[in-house]
Amino acid sequence: SHSQIGLIGLGTMGAMLALNIAEKGFDIAVFNRTTSVTKTFHENAGGLASKITPCETIEALVHAIAKPRAIILMVPAGDPVDQQIAALRDYLDPDDLIIDAGNANFHDTDRRAAEAAKAGPRFLGIGVSGGEEGARNGPAIMGGGEQQDWDRVAPVLTAIAAKFDGTPCAGFMGKGGSGHFVKAVHNGIEYADMEMIAEIYGVMRDGMKMSAQDCGDAFAKWDEGPLKSYLIEISGKVARTADPESGKPMLDIILDRAGQKGTGRWTVIEAQHLAAPVPVIEAAVMARNLSARLEARKQGQDLFGSAPEALPEGTLSADDPEHALIAGKILCYAQGFEMLRSANAPFDWDLPLPEIALIWRDGCIIRSAMLDDMARALTEAPERNLMYAPYFAALLKTHHAALRKMVSVAATYGLAVPALSMALSYFDTMRTERGTANMIQGQRDFFGAHGFERTDRDGTDFHGPWAM
Ligand code: NDP
Repeated sequence: SHSQIGLIGLGTMGAMLALNIAEKGFDIAVFNRTTSVTKTFHENAGGLASKITPCETIEALVHAIAKPRAIILMVPAGDPVDQQIAALRDYLDPDDLIIDAGNANFHDTDRRAAEAAKAGPRFLGIGVSGGEEGARNGPAIMGGGEQQDWDRVAPVLTAIAAKFDGTPCAGFMGKGGSGHFVKAVHNGIEYADMEMIAEIYGVMRDGMKMSAQDCGDAFAKWDEGPLKSYLIEISGKVARTADPESGKPMLDIILDRAGQKGTGRWTVIEAQHLAAPVPVIEAAVMARNLSARLEARKQGQDLFGSAPEALPEGTLSADDPEHALIAGKILCYAQGFEMLRSANAPFDWDLPLPEIALIWRDGCIIRSAMLDDMARALTEAPERNLMYAPYFAALLKTHHAALRKMVSVAATYGLAVPALSMALSYFDTMRTERGTANMIQGQRDFFGAHGFERTDRDGTDFHGPWAM
């Protein structure tokens, strides 16, 4: 029993994580439900094989690990996690530690943490982002549970995490499901970021008649400016890749129906529970759902016609797409961080917003240069909406006109840009001191005697003398 850590689930993520852990010098014991997978994994581990102990049973895995034990689960979220915890309970001591590194719904993590607190073994829920490549070479890691349990495995987790200027992209978020909650919001932002890029691509493709190659060149250029990010980088690469068979751009032959595993939806559902406005994320989830309605969209096009062939020359300037995306991105992240903040009171957390921005700078899918600036703004004033931080306010002042132009041109010509539209609506709402909820309150008082506040007097329960 010399292994310092164990891992269950040698699928895409688990296998890469195990190699990463072994490479950082830790002895690791591994188990997979299907034994042949464990064997193949170990045979292909090359120089790292000596650090890895392949186990054919859970019992053997447990015995291979030094006490107090720590075992990472990398199996699909939901029942498989509960099954593995139940199986491990038979062999683990109360002070052993189970670490769920999959994409658990944070409510499940809360429940598992509460169960663990009663009877052990101990439990930590960690959000791991970065996909297969991140798991192998350095993911971003957001941990939740008991601080002492995090501290116990922090040496391993910070060693395998991505590093930004030497700082590990791994951190402790708080108790219970907080790590998985932060990971879910990360994924929600990821959906929104991807959708806005896709919408801008759509305007360039359908409105500006740019080829996939031209779009790819544009993305590559933006990747050298304020939008520098993994998602812009890979969007450029996707757009520039040709299908080896037909020679056509890959983008032109990929069906416009997007998959999802549900973490974006969880974010939106949770945002609704928290009354946290994340309209850009909501639009992104909606867009993925509508993307599945291929037949209906065809019917709609036959019935109503599609957008015109091209925008009139000069409708949009070459810089508008980039500038609109800068504004949209700031507004989307502002919403995401506000959502994180709004979870603190109801869940009794104290989510470290500046640290979350620091963690997201590398390793994860939404890693970007802008997150470094966001970390700075959140460190300066943790309670301030990012859109009001001087650096981002200045960018918004310069670029909201481009976002407005993009959305209005798209509306005029019939191009769908739901996420960008929501970003703009959020911006306009958040810079309007006198909004229109006075009418809502008038209506509510009219039909339900709900009462309203007045601008000219103190008090909360005024009623109208409504004209009949
Ligand atoms: P895979 O489908 O590649 O692998 C799943 C693994 O879990 C396999 O080893 C499988 O074993 C095992 N497994 C499945 N069901 C059970 C069960 N009931 N009991 C025991 N073992 C089981 O999944 P991923 O590696 O992609 O994902 C794992 C987790 O990581 C998920 O929660 C996912 O959401 C999350 N994640 C995935 C990312 C990605 O980019 N793929 C990114 C971040 C998080 P067997 O070989 O026997 O089938």
